[in-house]
Amino acid sequence: MYFPLFDTHTHFDVPDFDPDRKELAQQAKAAGVERLILIGFTESRFSDLIATQHELNLLNNAPLSYLAPGLHPVYIEQHKPEHLQRLEQILKQESCIAVGEIGLDTFLPQYKQPELYQKQKHYFIEQLTLAKVYHKPVLLHIRKAHADVLQILKQQRFQLGGIAHAFSGGIEEAKAFVQLGFKLGITGQITNPNAKKLHRVVAEVGVEHLVLETDCPDMTPLCCQQSNGQRTRNTPVNLPYVLQGLATSLGDDEASVAAKVWENSLNALRLTH
Ligand SMILES: [Zn+2]
Repeated sequence: MYFPLFDTHTHFDVPDFDPDRKELAQQAKAAGVERLILIGFTESRFSDLIATQHELNLLNNAPLSYLAPGLHPVYIEQHKPEHLQRLEQILKQESCIAVGEIGLDTFLPQYKQPELYQKQKHYFIEQLTLAKVYHKPVLLHIRKAHADVLQILKQQRFQLGGIAHAFSGGIEEAKAFVQLGFKLGITGQITNPNAKKLHRVVAEVGVEHLVLETDCPDMTPLCCQQSNGQRTRNTPVNLPYVLQGLATSLGDDEASVAAKVWENSLNALRLTH
């Protein structure tokens, strides 16, 4: 079955895809992926990110590709003040759909080091300010820092919404993000029956606040992983498996879930059609 799908979080610009990006883009389109977002993480990749978007949009029979530049919290040690200036320049010069991915991450102990965590907060706030100035939604990366992200969004009076990508929080946190106008990004993790917390969040929040993403080259759906346990590259071609997993989790049919998450994606990204 074919449903129009929106891959709201990809790193399809990274070198993992250099050998066959064009073929994969065309396969993704044939599988229903009408649109995708290319998301930033370090300033050093901004030129390639932009070049990839331009190249993809020159292809026939490929998804329409959007740009979301941003400085990722996990790469905090690499970010410099001039990278924020470069980000602003891109927001002025290019057609950008959002600022991303930005947020806070304390998953590993080293990220929690006070000085580094303070730097994460500083870059997060600076980028929220840019998003406000250029009137863009934001694509959030949050691991073990949901309360702090919520607090900063409120303090900064950020009202443009966006997507909390690869959502890993609990039910109360999920509801708080929805209340602030965010959709929750669902990855291939939903294909894992053992991802109990995620299934509970999905059941509680409901399809009206969810969007799909591959987060490629990571987060490969269970069905597409190699049995030898080696890391399998995820690609936008696998997005229909995420839809399938979400529909199964919700106990709903794929057609109605597809239609709803498409509409949610447009709303979260402030697209009219
Ligand atoms: Zn990402």
